[in-house]
This record gives sequence, C-alpha cells and structure tokens, in this order.
Amino acid sequence: MRLPGSTIGVLGGGQLGRMLAMEARRMGYRVRALDPDPDACAAPFAELTRARLDDVDAALQLAAQCDVLTIETEHVPAAVLAQLETVREVHPNSALLATVQDRLRQRQFLARHGLPQTAWAQVDDLPGLERALAALGCPAVLKTRTEGYDGKGQVRIGAVSEAADAWAAIASAPAVLEAWVGFEREISVILARGGDGDIAVYPVAENEHRRHVLHITRAPARVAPAVAQRARELGAAVAEALGHVGVMAVEMFLLPDGELLVNEIAPRTHNSGHYTFGGCVTSQFEQHLRAICGLPLGEVTQAKPALMLNLLGDLWADGAPPLAPILAHPGARLHLYGKAPRPGRKLGHVLVLTDDLDQAQAWADGIVG
Ligand code: AMP
Repeated sequence: MRLPGSTIGVLGGGQLGRMLAMEARRMGYRVRALDPDPDACAAPFAELTRARLDDVDAALQLAAQCDVLTIETEHVPAAVLAQLETVREVHPNSALLATVQDRLRQRQFLARHGLPQTAWAQVDDLPGLERALAALGCPAVLKTRTEGYDGKGQVRIGAVSEAADAWAAIASAPAVLEAWVGFEREISVILARGGDGDIAVYPVAENEHRRHVLHITRAPARVAPAVAQRARELGAAVAEALGHVGVMAVEMFLLPDGELLVNEIAPRTHNSGHYTFGGCVTSQFEQHLRAICGLPLGEVTQAKPALMLNLLGDLWADGAPPLAPILAHPGARLHLYGKAPRPGRKLGHVLVLTDDLDQAQAWADGIVG
C-alpha cells in the first residue's frame, strides 16, 4: 500500500494529469509528471520532467523518483511502460496498454472474450478495404489502428465507390473497418478495479458527440434500469478480462432494441467521467489513485444529477469564453485547464449539478450555440 506522502509518477501532463495531480495533492501525495511541454496542464500541480513520452531514459529517471507509475493518455509507447515495469509498479501495465492502444487488438480482445461489438474487419490495403466493405456493407467507418482519437484517423464511408478516397484520407495506414451502428444513445461506464480485484462502477453516463468530439455528458443516463445494469456488468467484465488496476472507461452504443455494443476502451480516467469530480462522493481521479496505491476504493454514489459541457477553443473566439452566463448558473462548477486557445481544443469544462438535466442541456446548448 502506498500511503499519502508517496510520489505518484504520471506519464503525460494534459488535463487528465492535471486533475489527477490536484486530487493527489489534496490527499497528501507528491506528483511528478512527464511531458515535453513546459506549459503542460499538470505543471502547476506536479514536478514536471520535460521530455517526450517515448523518451525511455527520461521515463526511467522519473520512475526512480516515484513510488508508483500511471498514464493519463494511451499515447505512451507500450515499450516504454515495459521498461518501467522492470523497476516500478505501473498501472495500467504494458501488455494491457498494447492491447488497448491498437484498435485491431482491442477488437480481437473483445471477440476472444465474447464481448458484444459491431462487425469489423482488419484492413491493410485498398483491395482489403474493398473486400471488407463488400462483407460489412455501407455505411461503415474506417479507423486507423493507432494514433486516432476524438474522431482523428476516422472516415465514414457511405458507398463502396468512396473506398479509394477514404484509404487516402487515412494515409494508407493499417486500419479496422467497422460496420456503422445506428445507435439510440452513446453511453459510457466509468469504473475502477483495485489490485485485489474489487470493482466499483459509477452510475452510467450518456454522451453526445459533436464533430466526433465529446460535447455533453449527462449522468445518470436516460436508460432503463436493466440496460444500466447490463452496461455496468459489461464494463466490469472488460476490466476483469484485462486484469486492469485503476480507473477505466468503456464506451458503448445502445441499440434501439436495448442491446449494447462496446465501442472503445480507455484504461484511464476519461472525459465522460468528469461529472464524478464534483458530482460523486469520490472523483474518478481520487478513485484512480486509490486503486493504483492499493487503498480501498471509494464510494461511487452520485450526490446529484450532473451535466458536463466541454468548453472547446472555438468559445475563445473573442478572447475569453462567455464566463458570465456560465457562472450565472447556480449549479455550475467551472474547470479551465490553463491551455492556450485553439479551435477544437478542449480548454475546460463546466459541470452543472441540478435536478433538471433537460433544462441544463438547453442551457448548455445556449452557451455553445
Ligand atoms: P471513437 O473514436 O471510436 O470513440 O469514435 C468517435 C465517435 O464516432 C463515437 O463516439 C461515435 O459517435 C462515432 N462512431 C464511431 N464508430 C462508430 C460506428 N461504428 N458507428 C456509428 N458511429 C460511430
């Protein structure tokens, strides 16, 4: 067990690292983070080692100064984690990360464990893409195996005639083709698994994306109790099968007939879990620390219904976001990450705790237009 006073090492210093560091500092831990950017979001709350995430020597130096290591992005080479494992405990471990950071291996893992997902096919060249389209039908989504997030490295294909353009659009990178899912809702399950196998699952959240980027999360999700229960069981089954230790997000599609399909697994804290930071007794960041430090998991009860609105750089067009109307909402909790504004970039979020989520959603749509 690593008690407060120990040092947590975080690979990556983005907003997830920042909020993890804030919670760690509150609990009496020290935090060191690895990130090439001197202005990394986590910098105000962590000792920053400035180096790229693929710099093994820098990562090993960081490890020597820490008691346990974790990641805040899956864009850390699994080979770097494998090196770190030789000197320190690392969560998630390198084998798990290697499975999850490659869409093909993630799909194969789900298939191996009989976990529900959309139909998919491996694509390595244009003829292979055409064969896959013939097998799966259109529409379909072509996704690069690695480096894709927030809709990057993804192309929707509406007709077989678009195959060549789609293949060019992802720069002929090894990919996976997925059958298009006509989902009713997108939901996510945020959970934590401790080293002792104990699992704590947060209330299921409902997500709305805009231009492939998470726009709004509502929790609890508007789904039947049996669907929520099934989603929680599925999430737990994924974490068990991976042997994960720490917080994990499992994104799912809910079909009109009530069936659930796993879309994506993130072995870390997640944007759709931000509602827990203020909305639940234990935030996902505290929970992750508890799990990787071997402390008992915290209570996941939600104190109040919550809506989280991502604040993207587009809102900074006039220099600052519309703070007055945001702060005027009596249930609002504002988080800004200290990042330089750029269109499309996640610069912060606002959490609204309220019994009227429909009204909050209308309010949020009014803020972002
Ligand atoms: P991903 O990066 O895989 O999470 O995809 C980003 C978003 O694109 C998802 O949250 C969905 O809104 C949409 N999307 C991805 N894959 C599919 C699919 N197979 N069918 C329908 N929509 C999808």
